[in-house]
Amino acid sequence: MNYHNIVHDDMRNGSGLRVTLFVSGCEHHCNECHNPQTWNCESGIEFDTDALTEIFEQLDKEYISGITFSGGDPLHPNNVREIFSLIQKVRNRYKHKTVWIYTGYTWEEIMSKPRMDDITIYRQNIIFTSDVLVDGEFQRDKADVNYHWAGSANQRVIDIKKTLENNDIVLWK
Ligand code: SF4
Repeated sequence: MNYHNIVHDDMRNGSGLRVTLFVSGCEHHCNECHNPQTWNCESGIEFDTDALTEIFEQLDKEYISGITFSGGDPLHPNNVREIFSLIQKVRNRYKHKTVWIYTGYTWEEIMSKPRMDDITIYRQNIIFTSDVLVDGEFQRDKADVNYHWAGSANQRVIDIKKTLENNDIVLWK
């Protein structure tokens, strides 16, 4: 998996101050995407042990609320294995930090598929082990600069645990 950037003390991609990993690879190609340089899986640089150490150094700080995975799309087929592995590492080391995922796929596209193939299984396992999913493609005609944590009004900031408990979408508050 390649990535473009690790942002420290990020206030724009989830609650509190966070460390955010922007990965390479996105097949959505939304009109007026802010990060088209991340679409190609080969763009950026390889995610290596130095990058992992940098993330852990950020998460070690008391005031960092958690990690956000963005891009690009962390749920691109090329990324799901490594993202799931990373989430497991974060969960093992940091019991009280939160995990947010940004993706161009909708909750329904990910969760209503039968667990028949590896990519679907990884995507669903990523959801099961994260706290918040911001879902859906960026839609220029629904862009809203005042919408917290997302770029367009069709995207939802989903509380994963409550949504799974209720079997219906519950938005994060
Ligand atoms: S899903 Fe996100 S990164 Fe991918 S094209 Fe759409 S806005 Fe850009």
